[in-house]
Amino acid sequence: EVVVNRIAAGEVIQRPANALKELLENSLDAKSTNIQVTLKNGGLKLLQIQDNGTGIRKQDMDIVCERFTTSKLTKFEDLTSIATFGFRGEALASISHVAHLTITTKTAAQQCAFRAQYEDGKLKGPPKPCAGNQGTLISVEDLFYNVATRKKVLKNPTEEFVKIADVVGNYAVHNPAVGFILKRQGETTSDIKTNPSSTHVDVIRAVYGEHIARELMEVEFSHEVLKFKMHGYISNVNYSTKKLIFILFINNRLVDSTALRKAIERLLGSNKSRVFYTQAKLPGVNLKSEEAILEKLDSSLSQRKVRDNVLVRTDSSVQKI
Ligand code: ADP
Ligand code: MG
Repeated sequence: EVVVNRIAAGEVIQRPANALKELLENSLDAKSTNIQVTLKNGGLKLLQIQDNGTGIRKQDMDIVCERFTTSKLTKFEDLTSIATFGFRGEALASISHVAHLTITTKTAAQQCAFRAQYEDGKLKGPPKPCAGNQGTLISVEDLFYNVATRKKVLKNPTEEFVKIADVVGNYAVHNPAVGFILKRQGETTSDIKTNPSSTHVDVIRAVYGEHIARELMEVEFSHEVLKFKMHGYISNVNYSTKKLIFILFINNRLVDSTALRKAIERLLGSNKSRVFYTQAKLPGVNLKSEEAILEKLDSSLSQRKVRDNVLVRTDSSVQKI
């Protein structure tokens, strides 16, 4: 059973950046306003995330790493999103099967924090009281120590670091109310630092630079009948010599899909403009597959006058593209 779980875990968690994405979403779900990520060797040796959210109650600490255990109310929408874009109640369980996982956590109601280590979905021993502020500190050490095939593939900490920095930057842009820090263990300076209660543009400036933030145009799009809502920024700057930055969140989940990116560029972008960041709310859409989302986007696109509904807002004006 352990082996089966480990294989399943390897499908969910493929590299440090995937693990981090899940951990960030947990911290955000826990209403954190500050989240700090600390890495050693691109997250392969250590991937640590500290938040100031609700914390986990001591009595729940024994079950958080069991598969399919979730404290979150699951809506139909969430259930249908499992296949491609997410899964429920599996992140911590999966991580505990392929890494050394330690959780230190304190709720507002508790006098002190508790720390526990997990292995293969189970507590290694009873949680021990310790010092700590409200919130949760999750340490993932030696990721894939027991999965030789993955370990072999992930040999380049720099590459993993870049992927993690992308994930942190993307979540920071999408969640401007939350302050994010990304740093390497032992370094005094951080690689990413954003302030809580910022705006999207503040965060884009902090993460990607003034030259990009300066030229952004805000775009908004909604369709009453299709119940489709989109908000984002496009940029005319050649902001990166190496790669195009395109951040897409659908129903608050970071989505990486070339097909969707093209569809959205078609919807929002003129030839020159580059979509920088966009988020879409597609309530009631079955997010089971990329196709389902594409279908929704395409049906939006094929509606006449849809493009007339796209508003572009700059500092001084609101206009239609
Ligand atoms: P899910 O997020 O789908 O519920 P996870 O395996 O990611 O499943 O997390 C399991 C449970 O652990 C969550 O439902 C939540 O109760 C708790 N949890 C995980 N991370 C945090 C955190 N940073 N703060 C508070 N609770 C957390
Ligand atoms: Mg989760």
